[in-house]
Amino acid sequence: SKVPSITLNNGISMPQLGFGVWQVPDDEATTAVGHALNAGYRSIDTAAIYGNEEGTGKAIAASGIPREELFVTTKVWNTDQGHDAALRAFDESLAKLGLDYVDLYLIHWPVPAKDTFVDTYKALEKIYADGRAKAIGVSNFLPAHLERLLGETSIVPAVNQIELHPQFQQAESRAFHTAHNIVTEAWSPLGQGTLLGDPTVAGLAAKHGRTPAQVVLRWHLQLGNVVIPKSVTPSRIRENIDVFGFELDDADLADLARLDAGNRIGPDPATFDM
Ligand code: NAD
Repeated sequence: SKVPSITLNNGISMPQLGFGVWQVPDDEATTAVGHALNAGYRSIDTAAIYGNEEGTGKAIAASGIPREELFVTTKVWNTDQGHDAALRAFDESLAKLGLDYVDLYLIHWPVPAKDTFVDTYKALEKIYADGRAKAIGVSNFLPAHLERLLGETSIVPAVNQIELHPQFQQAESRAFHTAHNIVTEAWSPLGQGTLLGDPTVAGLAAKHGRTPAQVVLRWHLQLGNVVIPKSVTPSRIRENIDVFGFELDDADLADLARLDAGNRIGPDPATFDM
């Protein structure tokens, strides 16, 4: 496929575009991930809490694609935070995926009220040292949470996976990540579909003879973000990876920059403690 790779701060390559499986039931995940692998995706983003690591693992096994050509991400859930609990949760995730390593293991949310993310991260450092995750990182961490990790642990997170789309552009987090050599990975890159009807996006889609989803994904890629759009519809799965044959120009990017409205769709990481 023509998906470019970016190099993480430990030298590991990660496809800049992958396939997200949030809200895909376990029994449907096998089919959806199968479609994605057929369409050329090589990076899959799951999480323990999604309940579809087994279905994802089945699709990987059935594909026959050599393991080293795939990039698999999963995440430790909030209730499994803490050093020993995270180690146990990781074993369970690996077993469900049917793998002997993941490419990227993330802390799903900081849950600052529990104050366990530093201990949890130390478990990830152990997993990394044992070669069972090729890279480790975090998700939904605010700059203050990252500052704390940088001060109290030894491995700089490779990635911070955060909510990011044209209506929630996260300039402060992106600048912080760049300054510390952390890759920004965008979750809900399409705003969960909500911004595909936006007139600016629609206008740019018409200008380039592309779809609104393709315009939004192109915006992310040109910003340097990793993206993990989700769909269970085969035609959309193919559409979302077919974004390497056109380019937005500076005026297009400026038009999209003006859509930033501070519109968070998901929970606020400062307070989310489910
Ligand atoms: P998304 O922005 O990828 O939007 C997905 C929705 O957009 C689909 O359900 C569909 O309704 C629509 N859509 C997708 N492709 C389309 C197309 N080509 N044309 C028209 N509509 C289309 O939203 P998401 O699933 O929330 O985010 C993507 C992935 O990010 C998730 O699957 C998951 O892997 C990850 N994620 C992580 C976190 C986290 O806390 N770390 C939170 C949410 C999502």
